Amino acid sequence: MKKSPSNPLSPDATRAATGGSTVGTVDPGDIFDWPILTREDEEAVLEVLRSRAMSGNDIAQKFEQEFAQWIGRRHALSFPNGTSALLTAFWACGVGAGDEIICPSMTYWASCAGALHLGATVNFADIERDTLCIDPEDIEHRIGPKTRAIVVVHYAGHPADMDRILPIARRHGVKVIEDASHAQGALYKGRMTGTFGDVGAMSLMTGKSLAIGEGGMLVTNDTNLYERAIAYGHYERTGGPSRYARAGNAISNRDLARFAGVPIGGFKHRLNQMAAAMGRVQLKYYPERIVEIQRAMNRFWDLLEGVPGLYAHRPDSWPDSTMGGWYNARGLYRAEELGGVSCERFCEAVRAEGVAACISGANFPLHTHPLFHEADIFHQGTPTVIAFGQRDVRQGAGSLPVSESIREIAFSVPWFKHDRPEVIEQFASVFRKTAESLA
Ligand SMILES: *Cc1c(COP(=O)(O)O)cnc(C)c1O
Repeated sequence: MKKSPSNPLSPDATRAATGGSTVGTVDPGDIFDWPILTREDEEAVLEVLRSRAMSGNDIAQKFEQEFAQWIGRRHALSFPNGTSALLTAFWACGVGAGDEIICPSMTYWASCAGALHLGATVNFADIERDTLCIDPEDIEHRIGPKTRAIVVVHYAGHPADMDRILPIARRHGVKVIEDASHAQGALYKGRMTGTFGDVGAMSLMTGKSLAIGEGGMLVTNDTNLYERAIAYGHYERTGGPSRYARAGNAISNRDLARFAGVPIGGFKHRLNQMAAAMGRVQLKYYPERIVEIQRAMNRFWDLLEGVPGLYAHRPDSWPDSTMGGWYNARGLYRAEELGGVSCERFCEAVRAEGVAACISGANFPLHTHPLFHEADIFHQGTPTVIAFGQRDVRQGAGSLPVSESIREIAFSVPWFKHDRPEVIEQFASVFRKTAESLA
């Protein structure tokens, strides 16, 4: 992979961008910079700007076609962010007032919060200690007559165990929505995450693995679902691709065409065309860039193989499975192998050696957040999660022990974008020496 042209960042700015990590004697250079930007990105964005056709062009639709082809789905629909793509996926899957979705507690709020806006509620499931993804054993007993969808998050790039999740959904006629915001390009047993469920939805925000500024994408093979997604917030495209008029949804696709011109959701969900232009360039180089990231991150973890208490968060036990762009890279911590020293104290010790990127935990567990207990979004005088006749599935502290222990079992590690053995070895040696000094 060619390096990006001269790094415009000052040493201070570089330190800020890498979380202040400067270790040992080697210069980390641009090893942490993301996204990688070249003249091609600049030209693509400037072309949109100069054309003065920043809305009435077909760049987003070209990006969608290229994205669909890359990920291997029939349809892709672009969004201004991942949150709107997920909300739309919920509605397209038939989530409505009084319904439930199942979602892991350990994720970013956008994986599920939109369901409340549809009058539904969220039944939170726990995660597995090793994958940090939804625990397949904690799904089935949560399914009730009003459960419409299971949200699966491929957490921090780690694929969820789809072979154990999909049969449960099929058995109960429940849709599967994959939130692939962390995992663009990650493979589960040889196949791209985001393509297993009825629909995949994801963020393409800068900071995520596939970064285009601000953006989101929804992918599906189900044309019926695709058309519903269009009608929800892409009003000017409603009815366009429609050759299908299948009934069975509350609003059939025959009805959708009647509503063309006004979005059913009341939202306008158009991706900014400058982000779409950048997205096309980023997507073109993404496959080769994540191969290098995987080489670099696997190198880091291979160097830590056998170190007590520290374990790689990667799908070692499945064939042809990868971490994609290794977004928000985590390590797994086992205090019992390190004399009971807390993960937080371990991270403090690593930071004291100059690796500022080492912090215990991940997201906060959502199931105890007041929004999912008390918020009265619609001014009904009742918490929204029970205001539409939903089952009361609220859960307090202590109910999802693995999610609640996240600060004891996981920590962040440097996210290398280039495979530079010398630099990576220096970072790895800080983690190794700190763990060995505690063991
Ligand atoms: C970032 C993120 C989202 C939301 O995407 P935005 O583009 O920020 O709206 C959804 N789910 C997960 C898991 C995320 O990390």
